[in-house]
Amino acid sequence: MIEILDDRQVERARATGALVGAILATMRERATVGTNLLEIDAWTKAMIEDAGATSCYVDYEPSFGRGPFGHYICTSVNDAVLHGLPHDRALADGDLLTLDLAVVLGGVAADSAVSFVVGTPAPEDEALIAVTERALASAISVAGPGAKLGDVSHAIGAVLEGAGYSVNTQFGGHGIGSTMHQDPHVANTGRPGRGYTLRPGLMLAIEPWVMADTHRLVTDPDGWTLRSETGCRTAHSEHTVVVTEDGVDVLTLPPAA
Ligand code: MG
Ligand code: MG
Repeated sequence: MIEILDDRQVERARATGALVGAILATMRERATVGTNLLEIDAWTKAMIEDAGATSCYVDYEPSFGRGPFGHYICTSVNDAVLHGLPHDRALADGDLLTLDLAVVLGGVAADSAVSFVVGTPAPEDEALIAVTERALASAISVAGPGAKLGDVSHAIGAVLEGAGYSVNTQFGGHGIGSTMHQDPHVANTGRPGRGYTLRPGLMLAIEPWVMADTHRLVTDPDGWTLRSETGCRTAHSEHTVVVTEDGVDVLTLPPAA
């Protein structure tokens, strides 16, 4: 089922999105060389609870993970790209960290992910992150009312494939509303003009991700963390957006400086 939010739900979604954006911005600021991934998890838990929100992750138990996730944020480092289970690990200079966070506030969910380098960045890591950010921006630019889902998928794929990456189609974006993962699936490559027609009140989590030299994933022994098969670096950018009467609003932006 595809959920269309009414105006009141959209207003609540703005608050949820702002909270997710604020938590990710705070964690990005705090994550420096020597920070432990479990500290990031604990800080995130505190911010979620202080805001009166609920984690979408802690009890999450989907078919593709092993048991309840048990943590509040995904922390994927270097070759890890999706669903990174926080471990007792201190960040090192040059680590490429992806944080992915979803919470529910006021009955509405929001979901966002950001990749960045801790300490001194390697130019190739910055380029990898930039391509996912460009793909996300391109998808957002076409995601207005009347657009087709295929237009969004095509916009993502055109940037990723145009930059020479092969796209993994096992995981992509999704509808989001009263729960985190809903229909429709938003593939990270597709054909323009095809599929579901976007309409006001539809909320989507759009999330291009890429691995430097492969499209194949392997599951970590922890049962959750997904890594590149070759051990190459990876990046992931995600925002929750809502379709409006005349365009699309990005709900999970970091707070304005
Ligand atoms: Mg996410
Ligand atoms: Mg998502």
